[in-house]
Amino acid sequence: MARIGTTLAVLLLVGFVSFPLLSVFAAPFVPDSVQEPIGAQMITSTAAEAPLCTGKEGRATLEKLATKLARAAGTEAEFKIYVADADVLNAFAAPGGYVVLFRAIFDNAQSADEVAGVLAHEMGHVVEHHPAEGMLEALGYGIFGFIVPGSDSDSAGVAKTLLTSAHSRGDELEADRVGVAMLNGAGLNSRGLVSFFETLEQQSTTIPGALEFVSTHPTGAKRTDRLQEHMQDGEPALTEEEWTALKAMCETTGNAEPIAIGG
Ligand SMILES: [Zn+2]
Repeated sequence: MARIGTTLAVLLLVGFVSFPLLSVFAAPFVPDSVQEPIGAQMITSTAAEAPLCTGKEGRATLEKLATKLARAAGTEAEFKIYVADADVLNAFAAPGGYVVLFRAIFDNAQSADEVAGVLAHEMGHVVEHHPAEGMLEALGYGIFGFIVPGSDSDSAGVAKTLLTSAHSRGDELEADRVGVAMLNGAGLNSRGLVSFFETLEQQSTTIPGALEFVSTHPTGAKRTDRLQEHMQDGEPALTEEEWTALKAMCETTGNAEPIAIGG
């Protein structure tokens, strides 16, 4: 019944509100059964270009860190986290609770706290339903194809659109805010999120892909200024050993189950 109610609510809203506005309100109600195939398709597309990392100790490390962050967020959301082995400076959140970090994030981070910052930011997108929002915008009236049983739905097309689209500045600021609150709530140093983006901005000409990463996570103003009063010192995100294990996570790749947290 809850699912039918949700579907009806979405359908009713579709009739009355334009999509960009609709998507913000409807995103929290999009059932996982609709989000999951699109998120899974995005993972399949990603894995075709960048093999998924399977290093056991790295996975355990990431699971521990993400669990701390999810607990601090006090969210019911489920997270499915992957690391992809590519020299691409990128990270994204996808419908269905998926979060993908690319190896270049580890390679270019100056500390584990910076990786924790990027992870918290992407988890912040999930908590705030931004991937579902983007999905609704990409689908427009095509949402009917996913909700009405038996009708055709092109998850590959939507996945492709989402893989090349960026969040709005407002959503980026929200993900920053939630990410920093998660890091603070977990008792971790929350300065890494900002310092990572700042390094990329400053070295955008020397770090390949830095400019693209910053441009797909725009805030329209200096992150430091926005987050200054919220950033706190805290425990390091990882021990030296854990950080080493995380950086070595892509020494082995292959079929990987996501690191699943919560849900
Ligand atoms: Zn973002």
